Amino acid sequence: MKTVAYGVDEPHGKFHEMNVERREVGDDDVLIDIEYCGICHSDIHTANNEWGGAMYPVVPGHEIVGTVRQTGKNVTDHRVGDRVGVGCMVDSCRNCEECRKGNEHYCENTVFTYNSHDSHTGGVTYGGYSGQVVVDRNFVLKIPENLDLAATAPLLCAGITTYSPLRFWNVKKGDRVAVAGLGGLGHMGVKLASAMGADVTVLTTSPSKVDEAKRLGAQGVILSGNKDELKKHRGEFDFILDTIPAVHDLNLYLSLLKPEGALVLVGLPERGNSYNVYAGALVGGRKTLAGSNIGGIRETQEMLDFCGKHDITADIEMIGPEEINRAYERVVKSDVKYRFVIDMKGRNN
Ligand code: NAP
Ligand code: ZN
Ligand code: ZN
Repeated sequence: MKTVAYGVDEPHGKFHEMNVERREVGDDDVLIDIEYCGICHSDIHTANNEWGGAMYPVVPGHEIVGTVRQTGKNVTDHRVGDRVGVGCMVDSCRNCEECRKGNEHYCENTVFTYNSHDSHTGGVTYGGYSGQVVVDRNFVLKIPENLDLAATAPLLCAGITTYSPLRFWNVKKGDRVAVAGLGGLGHMGVKLASAMGADVTVLTTSPSKVDEAKRLGAQGVILSGNKDELKKHRGEFDFILDTIPAVHDLNLYLSLLKPEGALVLVGLPERGNSYNVYAGALVGGRKTLAGSNIGGIRETQEMLDFCGKHDITADIEMIGPEEINRAYERVVKSDVKYRFVIDMKGRNN
């Protein structure tokens, strides 16, 4: 079946309306009417082929929420009319060690929601800037009833990408956490780490975000554009969640950690740009430099339930599909507070 979608045909191309094919609803499938889809910086990296491997046309979008329109005969856990979400993955092998551990995102055959080889059709996957999507029931998440649907969309990527490392590194009450970059991921990191009881400081290059950071739950804010300001905070943090999408001076950021602290990268700069890290920046205090990629399906549901319990959603700016290009320009200029969400309602036939 055909559904309306918004995609690009080349790097830095203009988004335009097109039709993409969705597979017929199989026995294990859920057909979702997409209501809202967040704009992640990864959508921009992919649409512009900054990581390589873009397969055009690219229809991005992996922060999808909507309602179930139809289910296959084996689907008992999702019902027509349910509010559901789809994140960065729509399938995996389900047999390998990582899949069995619930780490479908580390499977060798993860099928990502867009720009990925589609194991069902043999074609390419198209994401949530679109009217409808058909997804295997195991990759469909349940949205807590108390959460606003549009503001929940960004949890499906920005939420899980920040929740997962905070949990893996066991961030807890009283820990001193710094979040570097106050964009889509960063603002979720502030909310989630605060809800876990941490004392959170934001490292931002934007003076206009200082008051905002406090409103979001941060206790402290450091203007990171000024190296001397950063240097005043050496040795203060147990954990740094680094969401910056461009190469920056990691040695300086590592110096902000306490001994045995960890700096975890989630930001993914353009391909071909690498970091220069001095051994001494790690060895001196037995520090950890690590990375983290989204999170598994089970943990994504856990994160959504955590957000339901703590009443956490994203701060969003709603746009129509015709405003995607403008939104991309603003995200690249760090001018988003804090996630653009595309209103896709009424575009599902
Ligand atoms: P975003 O909304 O654009 O936020 C990034 C923020 O980083 C900006 O708002 C800005 O915050 C800061 N920043 C931007 N350029 C900078 C620079 N040159 N130097 C220092 N700070 C800079 O992006 P996002 O959607 O949160 O995504 C962030 C990164 O994470 C992207 O690379 C994205 O692809 C990646 N990502 C990774 C995963 C994963 O699983 N690992 C998942 C999703 C996204 P301030 O104004 O506060 O400085
Ligand atoms: Zn994303
Ligand atoms: Zn697998």
